[in-house]
Amino acid sequence: MPNKTKSKALFLDRDGVINEEIGYLHRPEDVVFLPGIFALTQTAQRLGYKLVIVTNQSGIARGLYTTTQFETLMTWMRTEFLRHEVTLDAVYHCPYHPTHGIGDFKREHEDRKPSPGMIHRAARDLNLDLSQSILIGDRCSDIAAATAAGLHQAFLIAGTEQTPCPHPHKKIASLSELETWLKLNP
Ligand SMILES: [Mg+2]
Repeated sequence: MPNKTKSKALFLDRDGVINEEIGYLHRPEDVVFLPGIFALTQTAQRLGYKLVIVTNQSGIARGLYTTTQFETLMTWMRTEFLRHEVTLDAVYHCPYHPTHGIGDFKREHEDRKPSPGMIHRAARDLNLDLSQSILIGDRCSDIAAATAAGLHQAFLIAGTEQTPCPHPHKKIASLSELETWLKLNP
């Protein structure tokens, strides 16, 4: 039974889902939004989904950019969404990497996908019903995190992942396919 006191969420990976995957993105001028991202998030928001970004940011661990640069970029990105009447409810990022991290950033962490730590934190912070929530990612590690968290459905958008993902998911070729799914499964 759906829990009526809790919200459902659409979890979004960032790079390769919201914006084109260019590798270690950290400047607003390098952002290219994927076609359909604003229509998708507008529809999800209208259907009652909280919008939560969950993004591994090993570029911070590697010393390629700072937490402050990441946060500045996300403030800019939130403003771009607001211009399209979309409010991002939360952004979680994991700045660690177990082998390539520098100093304190070199460590395993429950937040780093494929682990579900960021999804679990969001569930606590936003009072989410994970069994009614969904995720879209572009890598198997996104799908694995969704499975580990017990989400209702995970979607893999084509373009980045080169190997088949072992955990259950639906493949989609474009963001508009997920928007259509949402309208058919409100
Ligand atoms: Mg990605």
